[in-house]
Amino acid sequence: MTVDPWHREFHVALRAVRDGAIMARHVRENVGEPALQKSDQSPATVADFAVQALVAHRLAENFPDDPLVAEEDAATLRTPSAQTMVHSVMAALHHSAPDLDSKRALDLIDRGRGTPAERFWTLDPVDGTQGFVRGGQYVVALALIVRGQVEIGLIGCPALSLDDRPMADRGWMACAVRGRGSFAASLQEEALRPLRVSPCRDPRFARLLRSFEAEHINLTTFNSIVQALGVQATPVLMDSQAKHVVVAAGCADLLIRVPATKTFRDKIWDQAAGSLIIEEAGGRVTDLSGALLDFGVGYLLKANEGVIASNGLLHPAVLDAVRGATMGR
Ligand code: AMP
Ligand code: MG
Repeated sequence: MTVDPWHREFHVALRAVRDGAIMARHVRENVGEPALQKSDQSPATVADFAVQALVAHRLAENFPDDPLVAEEDAATLRTPSAQTMVHSVMAALHHSAPDLDSKRALDLIDRGRGTPAERFWTLDPVDGTQGFVRGGQYVVALALIVRGQVEIGLIGCPALSLDDRPMADRGWMACAVRGRGSFAASLQEEALRPLRVSPCRDPRFARLLRSFEAEHINLTTFNSIVQALGVQATPVLMDSQAKHVVVAAGCADLLIRVPATKTFRDKIWDQAAGSLIIEEAGGRVTDLSGALLDFGVGYLLKANEGVIASNGLLHPAVLDAVRGATMGR
């Protein structure tokens, strides 16, 4: 894979995401710590904090001037009742970053409170925390954004199978550099193979993905779109940007995200890496109106309602179905 002009950024980020994904899987298999409730009532686990510390550490070492805009911060970890959690985060980090003490680790987690700039990184250390807790899909997602465009996207998927490997061999890395294509490798191996979206043209035969968590979407509108398209197979429920990797790999044809409310806006770290990986695999990603996602307006996708990501061929039909289903809402 030729990755100029982002050679160094790509290789540092690839190693960080791969190590983060392997660490998250290790935590899932070995640490029974329950999730913390954050102030917005969403859960955060040892893996969320440890992966954010590790990726922030690698980026700070290599690109100290780049802001990091990430999902977690260390505020909850700094409270006295979170000391057991801090201990578990440090234990998780010991293998990949033995030089870190807890003060530095918490400061690195707080590096994720950076603000979007001309050039910055955005990270979801564990996208799909509910999938992580439940035993579903979850991913580590990192992207480099320059002047509002995603230039590099990486997704580490510890629980995903893209072929018929046995359970023990699960785990994939997907990555893309703008203009250079999308690639995947098993978490254990270095060799990258190209990703390509599916050739499906007929919406009736589309393999469709949606969020596992029904509260994340407007199920009524989603079902109307599915009906208008005439999709025959039951949609597959999957957490996180693992969905984007599955579409980029041609193992599904389409994902539709209709937010639960008209005013909800996705966070950039929930879409940045996945959108580039699908586009560079030959697919198309837009909001519900057909507009490109705008990563240059802050940490929310303020300008975009919902997401449609497809193999490209199905996109016009989906936009028509969405128009019909959302008219007069
Ligand atoms: P998914 O598994 O595709 O629903 O994506 C998981 C992501 O959804 C999480 O990382 C959250 O950032 C995001 N999320 C959390 N709550 C909501 C919500 N109420 N509506 C939409 N997305 C949400
Ligand atoms: Mg997320």
